[in-house]
Amino acid sequence: LLAEDLDADHTAQSLLSDEESAFQLGPQLNGPDRPLPAELFVELFEAHAQRRPEAIAATHNDTRWTYRDLDDKANHIAHALLERGLRDEDVVAVVMERNLDWLAAALAVFKAGGVYLPVRPDFPAGRIATQLRRSDCRFAVTEPGSDAVLHAATADRDCSIVVAQETYGDDRRGNPGVPIRPEQPAYIYFTSGSTGEPKGAMCEHAGMLNHLFMKVDDMALGAGDVVTQTASQCFDISLWQLMAPLLVGGGTHIVDTDAQLDVTRFIDLLAAGGVQVIQIVPAYLDVMLSHLERDRRALGDLRSVSVTGEALKLGLVQRWFALYPGIALVNAYGATEVSDDTMHAVLDRVPDRDLAIVSVGRSLRNVNTYILDEQQRLVPLGAPGEIAFSGVCVGRGYVNDPERTRQAFTTDAYRPGTRLYRTGDFGRWLPEGTIEFLGRRDEQVKIRGFRIEIGEIENRLLQMPGVREAAVVIDGQSDQTKNLVAFFTGPDALQPADLRDFLAAALPEYMVPAYFHRLDALPLTENGKTNKKLLVGLAGTY
Ligand code: ADP
Repeated sequence: LLAEDLDADHTAQSLLSDEESAFQLGPQLNGPDRPLPAELFVELFEAHAQRRPEAIAATHNDTRWTYRDLDDKANHIAHALLERGLRDEDVVAVVMERNLDWLAAALAVFKAGGVYLPVRPDFPAGRIATQLRRSDCRFAVTEPGSDAVLHAATADRDCSIVVAQETYGDDRRGNPGVPIRPEQPAYIYFTSGSTGEPKGAMCEHAGMLNHLFMKVDDMALGAGDVVTQTASQCFDISLWQLMAPLLVGGGTHIVDTDAQLDVTRFIDLLAAGGVQVIQIVPAYLDVMLSHLERDRRALGDLRSVSVTGEALKLGLVQRWFALYPGIALVNAYGATEVSDDTMHAVLDRVPDRDLAIVSVGRSLRNVNTYILDEQQRLVPLGAPGEIAFSGVCVGRGYVNDPERTRQAFTTDAYRPGTRLYRTGDFGRWLPEGTIEFLGRRDEQVKIRGFRIEIGEIENRLLQMPGVREAAVVIDGQSDQTKNLVAFFTGPDALQPADLRDFLAAALPEYMVPAYFHRLDALPLTENGKTNKKLLVGLAGTY
């Protein structure tokens, strides 16, 4: 069951005058209507591959693939999947490192009409198994070296595994020509879930294409432009970093994680020229700025730096423009459930409005944006409320998870027939029609851009034999120094290292707390809840 099955029975009673409602539903606060072209992503890419086969589509270290190379390889993988019986809307896990073959595999899944499910080969096999089970996945593409974890994760289920490199041949195979419908699901990204189980957000081809066009528009992407691919495979950002340039005859440059972690290497890459657009999280912008402030460098052809995933502090923007007044910053805001970003603030200088967190900007094409109260009524302009979106961007919901889908997705009472997603973020409209981000409703947090439900970590900790109570908080103020810290109660014999190993066996590395502290009892608030504020204070004292 997915979001489209939800009933449309609630009619929101308005708190506002007709005039203000009409304004809030009008063009000032919502994205412009821009019909999508008749062709979807695959056809648009294939048309480029046909027109300019020698243009560079993708590079990784010293390897360069032209549009023809990429198209050929993707066709080989796509045909292999189809020959194994892949049908429309079958889910295909792509278990690969970030490399050119990974790009070919993702493209191949789209070409074959499948649903792309990216999986990081360094994730624990148990977590991968849960994701495959949850999404009824019976096909996978992998590569030598990444296949072992896939075999472990599929030991108890029927899964047809294609090794990308084994499908490549000298013969050229045509485009599979599988027809794709706009409302067909394109991909699933699993995000952390507060109840202990990750949720698989499923989005459609139309939403994906709409988002890719937003990036093309606001980063002014054109033929020959290069975007760096830096985000993890399990982050939906990685999708546009790969695919948006391919819509316009540009290229993607895959940067290894090592080369990013060593920020001087990343800066060297930019300084060498040939990269026009990057997207990073605020923590990384902070790291880059710390280096560049000590050792200012010209950043080659860099034109646009998109920052996303977490609140962008004014201080970072001021520091950036002090060094690089000619390079735009784009604060990109959205969520996996709405096909990635839905709002952009395109900045070419420090904003006039003196907000500690810069606005997330305006709604993008075909995006309807709302700020709602708990009964889903529009709140007055300037009042805080929950940010919600409707339109083509809104995905199908969480795969095979009707309960959690129902909690976040509903039908749009103001535009009947469209799905609406409530982000769990608070915000308010600013007079110029942009939104100020005011934080989360729940315990979802971001660490270095990774989306984490604290509850998922706590639930897992409670499964550790001996652990009686567990609470996890964030310590550290700056984007760079933020850490997860776990507190637990239990017998003396329980050692932090055991807890760490226990979590590492089930959770991705970015969800394993940096520190574990045993307490005799967890502190409580007056009404008996775990006193997390106090724990945050305590975390800073160790
Ligand atoms: P994405 O689709 O951009 O990868 P995730 O699904 O990982 O995003 O996380 C979505 C959440 O991240 C949002 O609901 C919000 O809480 C936070 N977020 C994303 N971008 C921004 C931003 N520019 N400013 C503030 N918060 C952000």
